[in-house]
Amino acid sequence: MKIRFIDLKAQYDSIKNEIDGAIAGVINSSSFILGPAVSRFEENFARYCGCKYAVAVNSGTSALYLTLRALGVGRGDEVITAANTFIATVAAVADTGATPVLVDIDPETRNIDLNLIENAITPRTKIIMPVHLYGSMVDMETLGAIAKKHNLIVIEDAAQAHGATFKNMRAGSFGLAAGFSFYPAKNLGAYGEGGAIVTSDESLVETIKKLRDHGSAKKYHHELMGCNARMDGIQGAVLDVKLKYLDSWNQERNRVAVRYRLKLDGLPLTVPAQNESNFDVYHQFVVEVDGRRKLQDFLSENGIPTLIHYPIPVHKQAGFLGAGFAPGQFPVTERLAERILSLPIYPELGSEEIDYISLKIREFFGD
Ligand SMILES: *Cc1c(COP(=O)(O)O)cnc(C)c1O
Repeated sequence: MKIRFIDLKAQYDSIKNEIDGAIAGVINSSSFILGPAVSRFEENFARYCGCKYAVAVNSGTSALYLTLRALGVGRGDEVITAANTFIATVAAVADTGATPVLVDIDPETRNIDLNLIENAITPRTKIIMPVHLYGSMVDMETLGAIAKKHNLIVIEDAAQAHGATFKNMRAGSFGLAAGFSFYPAKNLGAYGEGGAIVTSDESLVETIKKLRDHGSAKKYHHELMGCNARMDGIQGAVLDVKLKYLDSWNQERNRVAVRYRLKLDGLPLTVPAQNESNFDVYHQFVVEVDGRRKLQDFLSENGIPTLIHYPIPVHKQAGFLGAGFAPGQFPVTERLAERILSLPIYPELGSEEIDYISLKIREFFGD
């Protein structure tokens, strides 16, 4: 059986007519950058997230970077975020000139350890940036209380959590603003690069809209030093079609997760923790095992691709060692990085495939 880690072609085939029509519409109108398709998507995505506004940009990294810039974050400021995250979270902070301050993770949730945040706060801290990693939200009630107590702004990195909820509220609706990525493999993916900021703060929206377009609200009048971070019209059109299916796709990811839990039950392998306050959207289904490499090789030999999210933590990356990080600094994150394996999960993954993958994992453990 041929297993894919993700199957974007299958998803395209299921909505091909709508997508092709939407793309043709943009080409016929020649609105290649921003334009009506992007505006429509911004309105619909803001509503979806429970926010007043969305600003569409050219990547998730830009979304986080521009939000920080719009808030005046820069040299001398500190931004607290999780040690277990994709590099972009930390890069977005470093690009503003601010200092990223990492906090180790909770071994259960694999998200920022809420008990360690206060130790990391200094007089220079401006922002706490929780990351809802793998599609599972941080306890935003507890995090929000810490931020409030210390008068800090919360910006969510929701790049892996489109549609995830905590206490029935969607990712993106808790912080002053949130950054989303529409990298093709994300739960809501464009057909190229894309990202968005959601917020209900009107003045923040105005500043971010200027920053994404060379600091200008009026052509050739540049009030701020911005950059080019505009979304393509085609991406807006594609995303607006796909947004309608996001909830059903997230349900399908949950179907896959439920079946993995059932089929992998009883093995010496840790499946993702569940919390009754959360609706998780399983951007990844990450298991933990001793001897991860052997399992990964065995699955690969049996035609089952797996990935590691992420094999080298940010604080051990060569490019970031100058940022004041040192190996050994975040032991929970480091231990996790040695033990994790992401199994295939996507809405179109069938029961037969899940059963085959699970059977091979059982076989590996001599079950
Ligand atoms: C994907 C991702 C980003 C960055 O998004 P891009 O669109 O690739 O720039 C940021 N943070 C996290 C946690 C991500 O997974």
